[in-house]
Amino acid sequence: MINIGVLGLQGSVDEHIKSLGLIDNVQPLRVKTIHDLELVAGLIIPGGESTTIGKLLRDFKLADPIIKRVKEGMPLWGTCAGMVLMAKTIINEDYVHLGIMDISVRRNAYGSQLESFTCSLDIPQLSIKDFPLVFIRAPWIEKVGKDVEVLATINNRIVAVKQRNLLATSFHPELTTNIAFHKLFIKLVENHIRSTTNLSLA
Ligand code: GLN
Repeated sequence: MINIGVLGLQGSVDEHIKSLGLIDNVQPLRVKTIHDLELVAGLIIPGGESTTIGKLLRDFKLADPIIKRVKEGMPLWGTCAGMVLMAKTIINEDYVHLGIMDISVRRNAYGSQLESFTCSLDIPQLSIKDFPLVFIRAPWIEKVGKDVEVLATINNRIVAVKQRNLLATSFHPELTTNIAFHKLFIKLVENHIRSTTNLSLA
């Protein structure tokens, strides 16, 4: 069993836990403390309100421990607000939260709640077909660093990216019944576990 954490401070926590529960050999865990964080091999930051989650991250003293684990190689995936929390730059704000992914995002780029929308997308390089994308007051990405791989664009706007052990999506796979992105994240975690096991055997 692989323990996968979902940051459980605010937002679509239960939805991610439900999606992870559909994957063999995965034990989802709600992460609220440093001790919880120590138990997981990968972490998801859900959608929600990035300012609220950011404040709670600091109140619960989880920001620095998460940054430390990510620097040690732990895979991290942010959906929507989670992506805003990971970004090095938030173009339309004068603060950053974790600042660990080399992307510049625009918060609430798609407008208000009323302008939320869904569409679907094929992502051939991930062998993903007809993936349902749910955007709710979503950010988009305006700039990426050199080693950031763009996984998906909608109308020329970047909405999914990967950088080493980091994955970020503007949309909410956890609000759909399609678990392709969750499976992709688990693959990242498995690869990381394999690489650290090989190192310790070497
Ligand atoms: N607009 C929110 C924020 O920036 C994100 C919305 C979401 O996660 N659905 O925090």
